[in-house]
Amino acid sequence: MRLLRLRLENFRNYVRLDEPLPSGAVLLIGNNAQGKTNLLEAIYYFATLTSFRARSERELLNFDALGHGYPVVGRLVAEFQREGERSPHQMEVRLILDTNGDGERLRREALVDGVRQKRLADALGMFNAVLFLPDMLTVVTGAPEGRRRYLDMVLSQAEPNYAARLAEYRQVLAQRNALLKRLGEQGGDESRLDFWDARVAQLGAALMVARGKALDELSKRARRAHWALTREQENLHLRYRPAYSPGDGEARLLNADEARLVARLAPETLAAELHRALVRRRREEIARGVTTLGPHRDDFRFLEGQRDLGMYGSRGQVRTAMLALKMAEMAWLQARTGFRPVLLLDEILAELDARRRDDLQAHLAQSEQVFLTTTDHALFRPTFLAHSQVWRLRDGVVFPET
Ligand code: ATP
Ligand code: MG
Repeated sequence: MRLLRLRLENFRNYVRLDEPLPSGAVLLIGNNAQGKTNLLEAIYYFATLTSFRARSERELLNFDALGHGYPVVGRLVAEFQREGERSPHQMEVRLILDTNGDGERLRREALVDGVRQKRLADALGMFNAVLFLPDMLTVVTGAPEGRRRYLDMVLSQAEPNYAARLAEYRQVLAQRNALLKRLGEQGGDESRLDFWDARVAQLGAALMVARGKALDELSKRARRAHWALTREQENLHLRYRPAYSPGDGEARLLNADEARLVARLAPETLAAELHRALVRRRREEIARGVTTLGPHRDDFRFLEGQRDLGMYGSRGQVRTAMLALKMAEMAWLQARTGFRPVLLLDEILAELDARRRDDLQAHLAQSEQVFLTTTDHALFRPTFLAHSQVWRLRDGVVFPET
């Protein structure tokens, strides 16, 4: 798929931007702090409806637009064409900061082809993108939360109901935790948990099956990419480590067969099992005031042979694993959605050695559109530059080169 036009209003340091876009490579060149990553952030927003780096959506609203009264409206509009479709789509996201007397409230709206969506998540799955960031190595080496976040972002694009379910799961979980805490502090009728146990189990199982399946499919593709990247030297696997393992309930690394089993389980079967486990653990969870089982505590690991790369990988190994995962993500998204995702690369080539740079560039050639940022265009080959559209970025203003 391909972005045809991008419009931004009051997004980060872009007060106003309205540019048509070519296919192929768009190279965003600029000094530090000019808005290169901000632009990728805006494009990725159409794919995930969330920022990959803001802690709150308020951060996304242009500083200068704030403080002159309400409402403050930020707007992101994309026109894009998907393969095989007759006409392009338009997606618009509005970030509206308003006051309700004693405080501020930020509300978001999404319009697809001019039609306002009932829930924001209804606009997910229309536009697909894969994002490469230099600090993504922490997906391999960092805390489980980063891996869950990664998986959730990818799955939200590929599976229509995933994000809505996840949001509901989080709400239900918060309610259940509040009740556990109350019961722990004040006592009371424990059967009030019955309803919440069932909801956590039902939603949790659906998320687990989706994750198990995605990891299985991503693992296969990552392994192939990794095999090619390491010139058939090393063997990469992604392994699911759910907080609740079907069968024995233990939090442990599933082997490939077990993981495939989770992916193929009927969600109702898994839900019934998870439900029973929650009931068994009720006393302990009341004492602790928190839900200990379920996908909010899931993890997955990167293994090379038997070795966990998150713990033992060298920097180069971790980087190669991450690159393999990203290549897998591209192929997987295309297989799942039928459309080639737009690629967004933030300062990535500088991080790679010459051979991996070539491997990646060969992959980029398969995409329909790719955005790359750099502070230094000397990193790119003249032939690559000749085939790219170059945008110079200065302080939130774009200067396309002709
Ligand atoms: P680098 O090469 O250092 O990565 P970059 O071009 O990628 O730089 P960005 O991260 O895109 O830089 O943009 C950073 C700039 O945007 C900073 O100057 C920052 O102050 C500014 N900025 C961030 N959020 C806002 C906002 N809400 N309103 C206005 N400006 C913002
Ligand atoms: Mg940047």
